[in-house]
Amino acid sequence: MPPIDQILQHRTEELVEKSLFRILKETYRKNEIHVKRDGIEYISFSCNDYLGLSQNPKVKNAAIDAIKKYGVGSGASRLVTGNNPLYKILESNLAEFKNTEDAVVFGSGYLTNIGTIAAIVGKGDLILIDKWAHACLIDGVRLSGAKFMRFSNNNTDQCEELLKKYRNDYQNCLIVTDAVFSMDGHVAPVAELSRIAKKYDSWVMTDDAHGLGVVNKTSDVEIQSGTLSKAVGGYGGYVCGSKILCEYIRSTARSLVYSTALPPATLASAIAALEIISSDKELTEMPLKNAKYFTDLLVLDKAQSPIVPIIIGDEKAALDAAEKLKDSGFLVTAIRPPTVPKDSARLRFTFSALHKREEIAKLADVVRCYLPNKQEKNE
Ligand SMILES: *Cc1c(COP(=O)(O)O)cnc(C)c1O
Repeated sequence: MPPIDQILQHRTEELVEKSLFRILKETYRKNEIHVKRDGIEYISFSCNDYLGLSQNPKVKNAAIDAIKKYGVGSGASRLVTGNNPLYKILESNLAEFKNTEDAVVFGSGYLTNIGTIAAIVGKGDLILIDKWAHACLIDGVRLSGAKFMRFSNNNTDQCEELLKKYRNDYQNCLIVTDAVFSMDGHVAPVAELSRIAKKYDSWVMTDDAHGLGVVNKTSDVEIQSGTLSKAVGGYGGYVCGSKILCEYIRSTARSLVYSTALPPATLASAIAALEIISSDKELTEMPLKNAKYFTDLLVLDKAQSPIVPIIIGDEKAALDAAEKLKDSGFLVTAIRPPTVPKDSARLRFTFSALHKREEIAKLADVVRCYLPNKQEKNE
């Protein structure tokens, strides 16, 4: 075996030992919520396509029409090959939806965050970031070269302490957080962070990947990023803000400048999906309603988003629990470190607008035995 493979083999064995090795499982999506794996059908509670828009006929047709009109690929970076006219429509619709002056669309949410943070702050600047912020925000922070410090999850007092102590040692300061935390489902105290930021001459960036289209929240922070791959049902990412912010990002964010533009069909489907999100309030309210139905049934803290975690702790136990749920016909992912902190491996449920009440009730019955002791004692 060549030396590189020997080394990787050794590292892989270590991962397997710690139940941290990951295997991609071939899965066919049948419709909005049903999937087939190894020939068996499951109801999926592990998909971020909250509104089922990836399967929506209007959205699919928009993509098909765009392929017929423009072809499959986009050819080069937006700055090199020219900007497909669909970008302008999508960006102005996003800005209107988020009530900002402008928006910039990137290749993905990941690319948005690493590109935006590194474009705005750098050496000599300070970043304060929530400890539970998404991995790609952390990657953007690291890439920027700015000094960064973490505050514990949603701890605005601690954030303010850090500002009080260190703000003056740096030129610019950016506070970064998820708007809806992707592995816990709770929301960030954005208004309070914004208030503190103003007091200390700092800026706020929120990542609303799991909020857009499902958690109704407007905020007045300077930089609001998100993804087109979750409730919007397609692919791509965006950042919304002032006109000058967006123009600056378009010409300096490296993950936009040096990466090929999205396929036209992806832009067209996002435009169609956003139109549905803007007009169908009943649909966009359903995922959170379903999540709340689930947390009510199990007497858990009321869901704040369509994401509900049940913390198991041990990695192997979380995997076993997911396997048991599978035996009952439910596809639920066990989330393990490093995605979540050590000893907090969990089952992570995501609720769709298309899940039926009976299905959720049946899931709750199966899940009940994995609840922390508090609930078991009540029975
Ligand atoms: C999913 C997610 C992203 C990444 O978005 P992609 O479009 O999938 O790259 C970024 N931030 C958060 C909080 C997410 O949950």
